[in-house]
Amino acid sequence: MASRGHILVVEDERAIRRMIRMYLTEAGYTVAEAEDGAVALQQVRQGGIDLILLDVMLPEVDGLEVCRRIRESNGYVPIIMVTAMDDEASRVAGLEIGADDYVAKPFSPRELLARIRAVLRRVSEPETDAENVDAGRVTLERSSRRCLLDGSEVELTRLEFDLLAELASNPKTVHTRERLLERVWGYHNPIGGKTVDVHVANIRKKLGGWGGIVAVRGVGYKLDPDAAAA
Ligand code: CA
Repeated sequence: MASRGHILVVEDERAIRRMIRMYLTEAGYTVAEAEDGAVALQQVRQGGIDLILLDVMLPEVDGLEVCRRIRESNGYVPIIMVTAMDDEASRVAGLEIGADDYVAKPFSPRELLARIRAVLRRVSEPETDAENVDAGRVTLERSSRRCLLDGSEVELTRLEFDLLAELASNPKTVHTRERLLERVWGYHNPIGGKTVDVHVANIRKKLGGWGGIVAVRGVGYKLDPDAAAA
């Protein structure tokens, strides 16, 4: 059977690393292991990795720093952070510096595989609707996945682009956090609302305070180019 993808598991605890390798291998993935941040960065540089499962708590170079360095080096590899259950601060920090998603320890093999599949599916999906989206000062070119603000390109991550395109697909309509998670991340996550908030904040920052993404208190977000103009 052909491999479903090449996953790098970054985790300093050998027993956990081995257990994850077993789950993933059984599910048809090829697994590489790194026991610390430096080794992980070296492996990423060598290429050929489809997804990184990145523990936050690592000796020396921690998971957040590894994520930051990978994102700074520009190449896009999907990253799922692994955090302690009660470590909300690391989850938010990870998403802010460009992680795609997170799982909290302890996780079930099923939950882990669902997240991995969702992330890999999203990055491999071909763009079917090639039409451009015009949202006032912001234009989304779907075929090239470019985002333009006043005609100048703004670099969005793949996930940020998908989130903005999803909001733009039904402008002036409220999109709930749950719906956005299902549509953009590809799974239902009852505690994942914060994930959406952090990515929206990243997009707003990159779009220089463009006010077109409007928060609807307690519900979610809508795209409203007129609000930006007001
Ligand atoms: Ca660890």
